[in-house]
Amino acid sequence: METATIDPEVKASDEPEAEDETNILVVSDRCDQCGAQAYVGVLLGNGDLMFCSHHFNKYKTGITAAAVKIIDERWKLFNQRRNVE
Ligand SMILES: [Zn+2]
Repeated sequence: METATIDPEVKASDEPEAEDETNILVVSDRCDQCGAQAYVGVLLGNGDLMFCSHHFNKYKTGITAAAVKIIDERWKLFNQRRNVE
């Protein structure tokens, strides 16, 4: 008697479509305005900018209008808050 073949690998590789995550912020990324650690990366048509949470909020309206893509990793702040004086 034959049974239907269920291939687990097919399901395992069926991940949600992967975004282009080549621009992940790292600790060495610094805010262009104040030099603090950057938590928001902004991709523009002709380059990119880095902002800390404070400066992203300050320029948010203009940034959002000009940005091709915004990488918002401010959620890290909640995880790191205890480690910051
Ligand atoms: Zn800043």
